[in-house]
Amino acid sequence: KVRVRFAPSPTGPLHIGGVRTALFNYLFAKKHGGKFLLRIEDTDQNRYVEGAEQYIINSLNWLKTPFDEGPGKDGGYGPYRQSERKSIYKKYAEELINNGWAYYAFDTSEELDFHRKNHEEKGKTFIYNWHNRLKLKNSLSLTPEEVKAKIEAGEAYVVRFKCPQHEVLKLNDIIRGEITIDTNILDDKVLFKSDGMPTYHLANIVDDHLMEISHVIRGEEWLPSLALHVLLYRAFNWETPEFAHLPLILKPTGKGKLSKRDGDKLGFPVFPMEWKDSGGNVSRGYKEDGYFDEAVVNFLALLGWNPGTEQEIFTLQELVNAFELERVNKSGARFDPEKIKWFNHHYLQLKDDKELADDFSKFINSNNEIDLNRIPENKLNKDYLANVVKLIKERATFVSDFWELGSFFFMVPEKYDEKAAKKQWKEGTPAIMEELIGLLEAVDDFSSSNTEAVVKQWIADKGLGFGQVMPPLRLTLVGEMKGPHVFDILSQIGKAETINRIKKAIN
Ligand code: GLU
Repeated sequence: KVRVRFAPSPTGPLHIGGVRTALFNYLFAKKHGGKFLLRIEDTDQNRYVEGAEQYIINSLNWLKTPFDEGPGKDGGYGPYRQSERKSIYKKYAEELINNGWAYYAFDTSEELDFHRKNHEEKGKTFIYNWHNRLKLKNSLSLTPEEVKAKIEAGEAYVVRFKCPQHEVLKLNDIIRGEITIDTNILDDKVLFKSDGMPTYHLANIVDDHLMEISHVIRGEEWLPSLALHVLLYRAFNWETPEFAHLPLILKPTGKGKLSKRDGDKLGFPVFPMEWKDSGGNVSRGYKEDGYFDEAVVNFLALLGWNPGTEQEIFTLQELVNAFELERVNKSGARFDPEKIKWFNHHYLQLKDDKELADDFSKFINSNNEIDLNRIPENKLNKDYLANVVKLIKERATFVSDFWELGSFFFMVPEKYDEKAAKKQWKEGTPAIMEELIGLLEAVDDFSSSNTEAVVKQWIADKGLGFGQVMPPLRLTLVGEMKGPHVFDILSQIGKAETINRIKKAIN
């Protein structure tokens, strides 16, 4: 029975790497008909950030990869916030003390700092483990009476894992294969603190066990904890889940890990959705920047995973069908902000024009730089907008590109591109345009194909060159040399407006 979890700590907005971890968990769960859990790892109250949990949930919902079990959706394994499970962990820490896998330690942070410094001066690193634990202040070096007295006196303590000595562990990772670790280099990690809170390691293992997690799929940064986690399962005599550590996400240059700060520095979002911190600073998000959820999902799926074929475009369901942990790469995945734009362009083409028209309408109405007084009412209706979208979307990556690509569908050009005018507007042009007006006035069917046929016939009959007619015509309608097929523009803005624009240009 497949049960996987995404276990973020609510310390701020979910970075795009966290979203990728969640997505891979989701895909794996769905592929195997299993459950995808959200567990909030909020044992470190100092790092708790208000709103972060809701942000995580909103992001998963936006990407249409919601969890099956989690806060507010109990599947019989709750609660799903570690802060609400506080009372659970203590007895497990005690169980390990009783069976000899853990011990109390009373060293103060000043004492530990002193040891660290001392080692550093000798060019060594201080590791709290088998090597020196008997020289430190803990229940392995003190008598049971001393330990009892300290605890009764309310002295601060931690519970440390007693890492075994002289053992070579063979760990298994679905992506990385067998990993060998010498336990002598491991330290006796803190599992539980005297404030009554477990550390990440203990809470994580206890919860994965109690929630019957079958596969732990998480970021590579947790690989160094794998040995400890496997040893903890052994210490509890619990069945160990399978592990898969996902590769790092690298900066666009390929050098170094993509960090939360890179977005501002490099000019692209690193968060799924916009995030406002308590100081009022806003971090950009893919959603608000105009990316479609399908594009983000498709892009993230290929960040470290490949289907083994040339296929790049996948719906969520296709990803579910194709996904395999065995096809996740070991090496880091370079984050390419241009690639996600490419996906967005693709998904924009697939969207319904009417739906895009709604978004475009919102854009026009909320953009202060657009002078709504210059746009006639009848050009802001849904049909007109949808037709415009149909004509220009091929060149657009975002809905916000529509205006730049098609403002002339809404507004009469106020000026003409100077360079283009110089080149295209010749001495004989006004006379030709004058005659073209006469021709168009007699046309009733202003469909693109009909005006095209009529004008081309006229050009041929008159023995004119295309270059004498088409570029100046475009200039009168658009104001510059861009835009879709000229006759599509004619048909879209209509007969009266076409003639007006040509007239305006002549005068
Ligand atoms: N709370 C850890 C994190 O924030 C979870 C790591 C894990 O999945 O084991 O990434």
